Amino acid sequence: MSAATVEPRTPAAHAAPALRPLASVDRPTVSFELFPPRNPHAAPRLWETIRAIEDVRPDFVSVTYGASGKTRETSRTLVTQLLRETTLNPIAHLTCVGTSRAEVTAIVEEFLDEGVRSFLALRGDPPADQPDWQPHPDGLNTAGELVELLREIESQRCIASPSQAVRARVRPLSISVAAFPRGNAATGGTRAQDVASLLAKQEAGADFAITQVFFDADAYLGLVAEAREAGVVIPIIPGIIPTTDPARLLRVQELTGVPVPRTLLDLLGNADGEADQHRRGIRAGIDLINGVLDGGAPGVHVYTFNKHHAALDLLEGAQLHGGAGTSSRAAAATDPAPAAPTTPEG
Ligand SMILES: Cc1cc2nc3c(=O)[nH]c(=O)nc-3n(C[C@H](O)[C@H](O)[C@H](O)COP(=O)(O)OP(=O)(O)OC[C@H]3O[C@@H](n4cnc5c(N)ncnc54)[C@H](O)[C@@H]3O)c2cc1C
Repeated sequence: MSAATVEPRTPAAHAAPALRPLASVDRPTVSFELFPPRNPHAAPRLWETIRAIEDVRPDFVSVTYGASGKTRETSRTLVTQLLRETTLNPIAHLTCVGTSRAEVTAIVEEFLDEGVRSFLALRGDPPADQPDWQPHPDGLNTAGELVELLREIESQRCIASPSQAVRARVRPLSISVAAFPRGNAATGGTRAQDVASLLAKQEAGADFAITQVFFDADAYLGLVAEAREAGVVIPIIPGIIPTTDPARLLRVQELTGVPVPRTLLDLLGNADGEADQHRRGIRAGIDLINGVLDGGAPGVHVYTFNKHHAALDLLEGAQLHGGAGTSSRAAAATDPAPAAPTTPEG
């Protein structure tokens, strides 16, 4: 019998209100990262991606924000467009490095005035090409301090306006933060240091975390185990990169310091043409997703690089593409019928 089929057997069951099928509440979360278009020519392709991922009915999409506020306007514009012109639920990334507390406050107020209720609070990295760079004398030093500031601003707005206080009850502020399965190479931090920082972010009021890219499930599962041991209780969503494009992977390695396994590069390098390379990359991504979900991950956050084909092929292969209430993975987990084949088109 399918998990979605409810057969009334007793009068009590008959009288009870229909239960929502487990598949709809228990399905793993699905979300995507987007970045604002770098120039007007990039906008049409981004919107093609936005419309394609809308069909998957993700739980949320997140929009990146340049360190030192480099993309302040384009990020805010994209987040408000997503709010007003799509069915998507956007999370605004926000960085604080190099910015005064007053300026960060003004930026947060702008987002809140636009109706944005979800933030990914980040420190951001100091500019690598400026050896004399100094932190802002009146700035925030960590993402934890940004989480605290966000909570403080929201609380002040609620004190100032009873109407806002009611709206805040209806649509509470949600704050996510970053986590690092192998420690943050950009800051030279070990995993233990980043777990300490994650605990501080939780204590400051973070609701959940999203991880940096990683290439083996054990890195993610090890982080979660260490974090739980340290007292971190918030959900930690694994950040997944579609592993179809070796050039992209090497660029990500350069930017994050997370090494791409030689075996993965060889697997892609030995492919028989583009379609085979895509198929191999998707297969590796499916294995990674299965590894983290089987280990208890609450969902997956897919780094799209503003391209939807690989991201959606990956979700389809992992049976996560069905949208709210129709995930074939959740149904397959409770349904004795064999799962749909997982090999996507190349
Ligand atoms: C999911 C995700 C999305 C991202 N999006 C963006 C983006 O949109 N724009 C962008 O510019 N960058 C982005 N980044 C990169 C991020 O800004 C950098 O990795 C940055 O180096 C660290 O940011 P953080 O928020 O983790 O900082 P923090 O948590 O403040 O950590 C910075 C350093 O301080 C240490 N630290 C902080 N607090 C404590 C504490 N209480 N105890 C001990 N140590 C502490 C940490 O260990 C770490 O070494 C993203 C990263 C991830 C994982």
